Amino acid sequence: MTEKTSCQALLQDLLEERETPWQIQQRLFSRKEFLETVLYQAPDAIVTLDTTYRVVDWNAAAERIFGYSREEACGHELDSLITSAETASEAKCLSRQLLDQQPVVTTETVRFTKSGTPVQVRVSGAPIVTDGTLHGIVAVYTDISERIATEDALREQKRAAEQAHGQWQRTFDAVPDLIALIDTDHRIIRTNRAMAERLGRPAAELTGCACHTVVHNRETPPAFCPHSQLLDEGDSSPVEITEDNLGGDFLITVTPLHDAEGRLLGSVHIARDITKRKRDEKRLAKMSKEFEQVFHGTQDAMFLIAVEEEGGFRFIRTNKAHQRATGLELKTVRGKTPLELLGEEAGAQVSANYQRCVDAGAPLSYEEELVLPGGTRVWHTTLTPVYEEERITSIVGSAQDITERKRAEEHLRYLATTDELTGLYNRRHFMEILDTEIERAKRYEQSLALISLDIDHFKTINDTHGHAVGDAALEHLAAQLLACKRQPDSLGRLGGEEFALIAPHTDRAGATELAERIRSELERTPIELESTSLHPTISLGVTALNIQDNDTIDALLKRADDALYEAKRTGRNRTVTS
Ligand code: GH3
Ligand code: MG
Ligand code: MG
Repeated sequence: MTEKTSCQALLQDLLEERETPWQIQQRLFSRKEFLETVLYQAPDAIVTLDTTYRVVDWNAAAERIFGYSREEACGHELDSLITSAETASEAKCLSRQLLDQQPVVTTETVRFTKSGTPVQVRVSGAPIVTDGTLHGIVAVYTDISERIATEDALREQKRAAEQAHGQWQRTFDAVPDLIALIDTDHRIIRTNRAMAERLGRPAAELTGCACHTVVHNRETPPAFCPHSQLLDEGDSSPVEITEDNLGGDFLITVTPLHDAEGRLLGSVHIARDITKRKRDEKRLAKMSKEFEQVFHGTQDAMFLIAVEEEGGFRFIRTNKAHQRATGLELKTVRGKTPLELLGEEAGAQVSANYQRCVDAGAPLSYEEELVLPGGTRVWHTTLTPVYEEERITSIVGSAQDITERKRAEEHLRYLATTDELTGLYNRRHFMEILDTEIERAKRYEQSLALISLDIDHFKTINDTHGHAVGDAALEHLAAQLLACKRQPDSLGRLGGEEFALIAPHTDRAGATELAERIRSELERTPIELESTSLHPTISLGVTALNIQDNDTIDALLKRADDALYEAKRTGRNRTVTS
């Protein structure tokens, strides 16, 4: 720059001597060597132009910057060398200003090298004027490409830094956890949006406030404060807290915050909202407790069985009712297969039911009798499959001990169908059987016979030996009749000392033969009682179903009774067939 200034000063001096242009030119030329040296050393491109804007001189820097040699440049219009279509009008404007002898202008623009490469330049120019006459122009071009590139790089760096900062801030604000940066005096350095929103104050307002004041409404940090722990002990463990100011339960973790030199600045506080998790945990714990109470409180025996992937079953747990009813302690049951626990027979029996439940893929109910250490019991069992990802992984079993109910039912059924004294079918049940047998015989066109029988002169036995002997005689006779009857036959006591026998698949002749066999058997066999020996006889009326005549139960019974009456009438201890 010093060279350029002295060069300009020299030119000015020469111009101010007010010589003719010719003289000036001569004198300039006489200093040509000096000027050339100065111009050559100049770091900027210095271009001298005549009034037609043609290049008169072109220094080394111009050669370097624009790529034209002095010989190539001299004599050519400047704009044709270093401007392009885009910058032509701007260059023209500049040259016009200089040619109009207007004040020196400095502008930053783009010019082009010989090979067409753009070059960032700062242009300044000055008209060479003496006595109002323009002799030429000096234009100086400083290559500012490097400076522009540096400026661009700096700008880019700043933009990237701003962008990174913006991204960081957006990320910081987008985190749903409540974050606060806290200094070593417990003052808030910065909070993210979640924290500010939860505290109901703008983030800027929170900066500088003591954490314990704004978060916990306290004048000093709370006892659990992990930040205090970090400051005191250099480390801290996460804590779970309930803070109404933040509206729930939080897991607080603290990470130390250091500066570039590694000094502790404070900490990054992260509060994770675990209100829902805590609520779920509490609900789960409550449900588990309730479930345990129900599980162990129910009178039903409950058990859980694992369904193994390879197909076996294994007991997982049982409730108290199960342990009581089966006599099997939980520690004996846990982890065992049915075979290991119950032995071959009962093990196979329960396994088959568990397998039925797995095969059906749906709840299954059934009744079963099991021989267990607690005794032989009858169970009403319901198995419910439990699915995990479409596979049955376990079965929940619930079993009611129905042993007593079954016994009671059995007894009631016995009482409802049986004659108490003799153990034979009572009248009502006998009639039901007769009805069914008539239906069946008609449907399959099979023969069916009915035999009515009555003890002869039974009144005499009562009268002679007493009612108790009469009863004992009835019991013995019933047993004798039972011994005589064939397997499909049904025997009933219809009243007093009157009995009847249904003989399926039997026609009149067959039934008559059967009746005679019974009669003679009874006649032959005395009833031996403790006090006495009795020899009762019986009279029998035999008939058979007339399928073709659309026979009815009443008609059948009446025919048998009539035949019996006929047997009595004609002397007793005999069989009459109708
Ligand atoms: P028959 O049939 O030969 O004409 O003479 P019978 O003496 O058997 O006459 P009937 O059938 O009229 O009398 C039946 C008697 O059986 C009357 C009653 O005292 C007696 N009787 C009926 N039910 C019972 C009973 O449950 N126990 C006892 N001990 N006697 C009964
Ligand atoms: Mg009688
Ligand atoms: Mg009678």
